[in-house]
Amino acid sequence: MMTKDQYIESLKKLNFNLYVFGEKVENPTENPIMRPSLNSFAATYELAEDPQYEDLMTATSHLTGHKINRFTHMHQSTDDLVKKVKMQRLLGQKTAACFQRCVGMDAMNAVYSSTFEIDEACGTKYHENFVKFLTRVQDEDLGVDGAMTDVKGDRSLSPSQQADPDLFLHVVERTADGVYVTGAKAHQTGYINSHEVLVMPTIAMREGDEDYAISFAVPTDSDGITLIYGRQSCDTRKIEEYNDIDVGNKVYGGHEVLVIFDHVFVPNDRIFLNGEIKFAGMIVERFAGYHRQSYGGCKVGVGDVLIGATALAGDMAGSAKASHVKDKLIEMTHLNETLYCCGIACSSQGTKTKSGNYLIDLLLANVCKQNVTRFPYEIARLAQDLAGGLMVTLPSEADYRNPKLHDYIDKYCRGVASVPTEDRMRVLRLIENMTMGTAAVGYLPESMHGAGSPQAQRIMIARQSNLEMKKELAKKIARID
Ligand code: SF4
Ligand code: FE
Repeated sequence: MMTKDQYIESLKKLNFNLYVFGEKVENPTENPIMRPSLNSFAATYELAEDPQYEDLMTATSHLTGHKINRFTHMHQSTDDLVKKVKMQRLLGQKTAACFQRCVGMDAMNAVYSSTFEIDEACGTKYHENFVKFLTRVQDEDLGVDGAMTDVKGDRSLSPSQQADPDLFLHVVERTADGVYVTGAKAHQTGYINSHEVLVMPTIAMREGDEDYAISFAVPTDSDGITLIYGRQSCDTRKIEEYNDIDVGNKVYGGHEVLVIFDHVFVPNDRIFLNGEIKFAGMIVERFAGYHRQSYGGCKVGVGDVLIGATALAGDMAGSAKASHVKDKLIEMTHLNETLYCCGIACSSQGTKTKSGNYLIDLLLANVCKQNVTRFPYEIARLAQDLAGGLMVTLPSEADYRNPKLHDYIDKYCRGVASVPTEDRMRVLRLIENMTMGTAAVGYLPESMHGAGSPQAQRIMIARQSNLEMKKELAKKIARID
């Protein structure tokens, strides 16, 4: 396995065509806007080095028998699925941000089982291709970004019916050695912190969509790929002169990138689906299922930090003993642990796929994610309720550092006399960051739309709900023939 430092060094060798704020970025690992997200991703390496987290952070490869990072593991049991969620909660607690590496883990587990079944039905060799790729990922401890979401254009039209053929990523040229692809993948979490990108189709496909039913992996800095970094609320606070207190979470963060593929070459042995339209939906459903499970871990860990920050804000304001404050903290905990229950439940009820790795219970994973589209918003609302208006009206750090203003701010922004004002500012800025700033991107809209928007879960819940069986139960009790 790579150490944290080896991982960061390995990223420096990547040669991205990356832009932010209209400028090309030469050293993303040193860029102050980007560095916090690298630190979060690097935590997946750092914690794996720590013996106290060995059981959660590492696993034994079923391919080689080697000790590997759990983020590259194919889940071999329901216990592995449960440990995955616990690992994600741990990392959420340590970073209070999106640590990004789960997307690849979820994509690899989905493609692993799907390619096995595609080969069985179609006589293809995708699973062999994928196992070769996976073995390298495990042995070299690579970061992999799973790329599913196409930009999709007109939602009422299928991929091949779009006015612009590139709105879903597709094959534009076929040669004896491989294929060339063009299109874009949106909202790509962790892309510039990853060595490889594993591309999957974004929806179930119909006849005529064959060129769009494509899955493959290529290095993230392949020729023909252009990256545009997504800006986040309050991101430029990171490049202000005083950028300690006001950023809230200074060390960690997350990022998303618009990834544009312009005639990118994919060699034959890196292709995992190529025209088999009826299997596109299987990959989508399994990837989405795994990532909906993931949120029952990562968002819970981030929620733990927000609950802690809210409780601290109460202590610092002298309101901790008020019964409504205690009750709101209980409510936040109840909501957060409900998400964890869902993450653990869909894991413990997982089943073995034909390929041998384990898949979560899809109904419970979709229920998990549906709750995630709601509860973090309520937790954030309660955090803002208890934090008070000062969270958004506090003077800036620059004012606090100005000798003419420092003592005024120190005096008038203080709560409990024994607590330094600066500590109070730090906690309130952290709550601001997590509910409205850069970290809110990961905690709120990503809870809504990541791993699929709420309606996507409702479609899956409808499909898995087995209403006919339930009608039969009712008929029997009501004594209806
Ligand atoms: Fe992992 Fe959560 Fe980020 Fe998805 S949102 S990559 S599950 S930390
Ligand atoms: Fe996500």
